[in-house]
Amino acid sequence: MTVASPILEPTVAERPREVPSPPRLAALPAQILCRDLCKVYRKGEIEVVALDSLDLAIAQGSFVALMGPSGSGKSTLLNMIAGLDTPTSGWLRVGGVEVPALSQRARTEWRAANVGFVFQSFNLVPVLTAFENVNLPLALKRLGRKERQEKAQAALELVGLADRAHHYPHQLSQGQEQRVALARAIVSDPPILLADEPTGNLDARSAHEVIQLFRALHAQFKKTVVIVTHDPRAAEVAETVHRLDKGRLVGGERR
Ligand code: ADP
Ligand code: MG
Repeated sequence: MTVASPILEPTVAERPREVPSPPRLAALPAQILCRDLCKVYRKGEIEVVALDSLDLAIAQGSFVALMGPSGSGKSTLLNMIAGLDTPTSGWLRVGGVEVPALSQRARTEWRAANVGFVFQSFNLVPVLTAFENVNLPLALKRLGRKERQEKAQAALELVGLADRAHHYPHQLSQGQEQRVALARAIVSDPPILLADEPTGNLDARSAHEVIQLFRALHAQFKKTVVIVTHDPRAAEVAETVHRLDKGRLVGGERR
């Protein structure tokens, strides 16, 4: 799948000679760094340890898959990286920012600028068209109406859905809905893309299309991509697979 966009500038232009081969990638500064990260959920008397002293480093511009059994802490970790949840203890730094230390408002602003998030269930607003859904994150930005429209249109083009701009979510297939969700995640051109089982609700063909889009965004725009997945075919396109079990890493695998 070719991906080209006049609006989402490839960061290649900024560091043309630094496009890393996988071995050098490891030497790049970690964009996502967790040390001794713990999350304990308390419900009355019951304590659930979702993350158990987790250490993890994800290099800038890498494509990582997180795998592991249900309940192993994958979503908790992803939400933590996105600043949607805060750790009980430990340390988390994303792009040099200690995200949990930010105020709630600062975290929301940080997330809007740095993270695109794709959910298993798409989470599109049903009463808005594809275009309006993609336009939504730009409402927080100080941009003119025309510039917003161009960006939203470019993001839809990027996922191959320019011709569905005025369709509502219920008029789209599930694969198309997820591609709209992906367009919404990238419309602000964030450096980090996170996805929680993005192909979990899709048939094999749509899943393949969505995974190829992640791959293209990673390859062409140098996004750092972290996807939680149960799908071995999705994990196959990742450079690194990290496996979680009971809130801990149980060995990584570099491709
Ligand atoms: P995964 O995504 O790997 O399936 P999760 O990160 O969703 O796992 O959950 C890890 C553990 O934390 C599970 O035991 C889950 O029940 C628990 N958990 C997750 N979120 C909450 C919450 N908001 N309140 C209480 N327990 C939670
Ligand atoms: Mg989960």
